[in-house]
Amino acid sequence: MLDFARARQRMVERQVAARGVHDSSVLEAMGEVPREAFVPSGMEEFAYEDSPLPIEADQTISQPFIVGLMIEAARVRPGERVLEVGAGSGYAAAVMSRIAEDVYAIERHEELTRLAQGRLDRLGYHNVHLKTGDGTRGWPEAAPFEAILAAAGGPAVPAALQAQLAIGGRLVMPVGAEPRRQRLIKMTRTSEDQFAVEDLGEVVFVPLIGDEGWASETPARPPMPEPRSFREPARPVSLPEMIRAAAEPLPELHDPAFGALIDRFAQAKVVLLGEASHGTSEFYRARAAITRRLVETHGFRIVAVEADWPDAAHIDRYVRGVPAPRHDEPPFRRFPTWMWRNTDVEAFIEGLREWNLARPAADRCGFYGLDLYNLSASIRAVLDYLDRVDPAAGRIARSRYACLTPWAKEPQTYGRLALSSGYRACEEGVIKTLRELLENRMEYARADGERFLDAEGNARLVKNAEAYYRAMYYGSAESWNLRDTHMFETLCSLLDAKGPDARAVVWAHNSHIGDASKTEMGIEREELNIGQLCRERFGLDAALIGFGTHSGTVACAEDWDEPMQVRRVSPSLEDSYERMAHDAGVSRFLLDLRDGVHDPLRVRLLSPRLERFIGVIYRPETERWSHYAACSLPQQFDAYVWFDETHAVTPLVTRARAGAEDTYPFGL
Ligand code: SAM
Repeated sequence: MLDFARARQRMVERQVAARGVHDSSVLEAMGEVPREAFVPSGMEEFAYEDSPLPIEADQTISQPFIVGLMIEAARVRPGERVLEVGAGSGYAAAVMSRIAEDVYAIERHEELTRLAQGRLDRLGYHNVHLKTGDGTRGWPEAAPFEAILAAAGGPAVPAALQAQLAIGGRLVMPVGAEPRRQRLIKMTRTSEDQFAVEDLGEVVFVPLIGDEGWASETPARPPMPEPRSFREPARPVSLPEMIRAAAEPLPELHDPAFGALIDRFAQAKVVLLGEASHGTSEFYRARAAITRRLVETHGFRIVAVEADWPDAAHIDRYVRGVPAPRHDEPPFRRFPTWMWRNTDVEAFIEGLREWNLARPAADRCGFYGLDLYNLSASIRAVLDYLDRVDPAAGRIARSRYACLTPWAKEPQTYGRLALSSGYRACEEGVIKTLRELLENRMEYARADGERFLDAEGNARLVKNAEAYYRAMYYGSAESWNLRDTHMFETLCSLLDAKGPDARAVVWAHNSHIGDASKTEMGIEREELNIGQLCRERFGLDAALIGFGTHSGTVACAEDWDEPMQVRRVSPSLEDSYERMAHDAGVSRFLLDLRDGVHDPLRVRLLSPRLERFIGVIYRPETERWSHYAACSLPQQFDAYVWFDETHAVTPLVTRARAGAEDTYPFGL
């Protein structure tokens, strides 16, 4: 659930004020107008993105910063009459209407005028007057205007607009000899026939079409203007050429040489392996090959993945040949099942089991879950454990967990109810249960250290999941941060439990393992992640490896809890990191992004570009807004593994496999 008011405040602070728009009336007005009401239905969740967005009639609503910059530059003041050419969604006119006496706004597309009128009426912004027409002629009946803004770029400032500007009035407009690249010009009318002109810098706007503008929109669909910081001047050697020169082609996935390419990171304490979607076979197989190498050749004994602790515990028991508790439920029954129940994961765990069983129990590699969704299984596991080792403590824990158990299968409901103070009571009990378990570590673990570690992982999951579901109702950043902090705590407790020389391989999505502080997530939304926390804790002993692809197919769902489907992955967006990698023309490669390896390329890659993130949900219909975010790739990752074309994972049928000794680990 999005907290629009909070997103709006953050937009004003970080995107507008922080970039130098200081006029308090502009900031207040932008803080008041609900931008989500001015975007097409279905796009509301993107309304506070730091970029323009598509609107109806193939037009755009301008980037928030540009709206603020233009209104500030035009010095719009109370009591004044303002003209806007290019009303589009009506957003900028709405913002100005909170400051000025009257706003007159002209839009050439009838459809847009109608939609804008509806929005303004609903909001009760009655001092905006809209009409459909050619704005290059101005609105003579309402002139003169103290301020005129044009939200589309023309070859020159139309004479009609100059004539309708009051003496002392300010006009702000993008002007350029090309329809799609302009300078933002500010013109102040100093007398009847004199104008002072200032250049406010380069901008990219849609063209102003009309008598005193461009003749037509050619090509038919104007490009989406980009935030200014995303652009880069042309240089003689292209970025794809530089990537091609630095790319280390990868052998076939089954070739042992594949994993060996990561040997350069084998000294690290934690190697984090990402993925650019939750349903791509190549990413799973590549991580499996690298992990095998790290385990078999370099002594890594922890594989920790973005799966729930109690579910991964099944796999752990299977790969290490430890018997399962009697009433254990089959793992990974919850959405999205294909993320772990797929043929690539199965092949990996069968291989790990075979390798493990050929060596002493103490030297086997474990498989652990870092995620926190399976609250009910973890509650059951903690209670089972305590009932066995300390029945009195089990009784206390049962009464403490009782306020959570009604919601354990549907914790989202708990989150909603937890907003009322009565349910906060659960918080104390789950914290105490974990604390007391840890206080009794010596005594409990003496009987069975492995079982204790499992119970500790489950008790930590219950404690952090309680906070996670409660936070979900306050805002997405808190709950995201709680989840990634939980992953990090769990990883650290595993490393601690396995001794000072313990080393771990982590499998999680790029959004968890690429340093969030070098991406839009961290910079704009204050989200952190396990990759960032590992870097902060382990420094160069954390290796962050990202994965990417251009096109192919992916296993995904259209929405949460919907069935899995295989969808085509749209070719990556122009100018994104993925498109640069695709244009390098190498089908599979590793790019070493560490300082001092390919410095000229690294420098070229530093300035932020869009990068694609597909999770379990894939919505190609809103591709740019649902799946791309600005990142600085060489700061986010130490290396990047590229597969130009990728394929969906094959899900496992959820039934017992013939010939398997029991229903482990993937049977029903
Ligand atoms: N200020 C708008 C907003 O907040 O949504 C952004 C508008 S968009 C960047 C520019 C708009 O100018 C488009 O909707 C386009 O149709 C319109 N436009 C282009 N030429 C025009 C003209 N001669 N008269 C009126 N509108 C025009």
